[in-house]
Amino acid sequence: MNIKFYNTLSRKKEIFNPIKPGEVSMYTCGPTVYSRSHIGNFRTFLFEDILKRVFLIVGYKVRHIMNITDVDDKMIKKANDENKTLTEISLKYTAEFIEDAAILKILPADELPLATDNIQEMISMITALIKNGNAYLTENGSVFFSIESYKDYGKLAHLDLKGLKQTDRVAADEYTKDHPQDFALWKAWKEEDGDVSWDSPWGKGRPGWHMECSAMSTKYLGNHFDIHCGGVDNIFPHHENEIAQSCAALNSEFVNLWMHSEHLIMADEKMSKSLGNIKTIPELLADGYTAESLRFALISSHYRSKLAFSHIKLEEAKKSVHRINELFQKLNKKVDVGNSLPDEYEEFIEILCDDLNTPKALGVLFNYVRKLNHKIDNDILSKNEATMGLSFLIKADEILSLLIKQTDIPDKIAQLVAKRESARKEKNWKLSDHLREEIKQKGWKVEDLPEGTKCYPL
Ligand code: AMP
Ligand code: ZN
Repeated sequence: MNIKFYNTLSRKKEIFNPIKPGEVSMYTCGPTVYSRSHIGNFRTFLFEDILKRVFLIVGYKVRHIMNITDVDDKMIKKANDENKTLTEISLKYTAEFIEDAAILKILPADELPLATDNIQEMISMITALIKNGNAYLTENGSVFFSIESYKDYGKLAHLDLKGLKQTDRVAADEYTKDHPQDFALWKAWKEEDGDVSWDSPWGKGRPGWHMECSAMSTKYLGNHFDIHCGGVDNIFPHHENEIAQSCAALNSEFVNLWMHSEHLIMADEKMSKSLGNIKTIPELLADGYTAESLRFALISSHYRSKLAFSHIKLEEAKKSVHRINELFQKLNKKVDVGNSLPDEYEEFIEILCDDLNTPKALGVLFNYVRKLNHKIDNDILSKNEATMGLSFLIKADEILSLLIKQTDIPDKIAQLVAKRESARKEKNWKLSDHLREEIKQKGWKVEDLPEGTKCYPL
């Protein structure tokens, strides 16, 4: 089966051709750990998770690297504002990121390198860029990339640089497409950097953000690898600069396929830490949403379309997750999983292999759920159909991860269920009923089955 993805570089859908047959090397820009990642960030991380799971289900071996940006302008500002060390800040938010990603059932990357563990690799790359005539040292000991020296500069963001008189330099990590300028590879130490600095051939300083991902991606995946992903805000300047740095330093091809997910927006604005319009995973769990409904809401739109955050969307997601789980439980009680799958499964996978069309694939799945529910309601579902149905739900879940296992039940609910079990053992039916009601109020339902009590979201 052909797998096709939209490549930001060519602005076209292209058939995926791995560099090594049967293997995929992918690098995804990880979080900047100066505060807790919000669900906008997780929209991008989930798009990458679905991408990886699609490769796995069709039989590829995937090597996935995600970096942790633990030093950049924002990290230093945060450490200064809170009078903490960079390490204190990064340890806290890296741990929270790992925790939230696990809650959302995001498959962990094979490696999660820290920028601060790879400073020597960055220095080597900058040294090569100076040697190749692509970078220059300034009087204060910073090193800048000369965009004029790299003829393909602007090819990812499709910048028109004709007539641009290159006189300016930009020291900040982030700047806009309207002002392409020479950018910092190495930033000489300044007083506000405090004790954040490393020795280099150019004196004390720290790397620019873009250099971090050039060094870490090629260290772990080789100079030329298959896929590089991020959110659309990463296209410029971050990924544009990465291409320039990596290709010029290594005299090599760099990345074949660039994939970017559109933003999660809140009241017409990008959800972002700097705007302060964010929602985090713990906040939404406290609002009563399960990890599965959050996952569903974030993958139910195509990754290249903007997705507006709303509680209505989360409520709808909750209902959809409930419908899949309800059918799963019904089928699971009737039959065991089998080897054959319905035609809808093929269709589901084909749609995902066409630029990850998650809304269309979910449409196929839900039509199927409706069909089976109708047959169950009319008592006309054959055993074979039930087995295929169960197998489809389980197989589709290797990508979607929306089925709720007993181990996914939140601690607070599990405690109430255990308390109710004790009450039942003591034949305290009044307390047991009361606890059932309390569990229901919290959005969960208990079912007493011969094999023990089971609990599901309502
Ligand atoms: P950061 O922690 O800011 O470095 O961002 C981590 C990832 O989240 C990057 O790939 C960003 O492009 C992405 N991102 C940031 N904000 C959003 C948003 N509102 N919607 C989707 N992705 C986002
Ligand atoms: Zn990056």
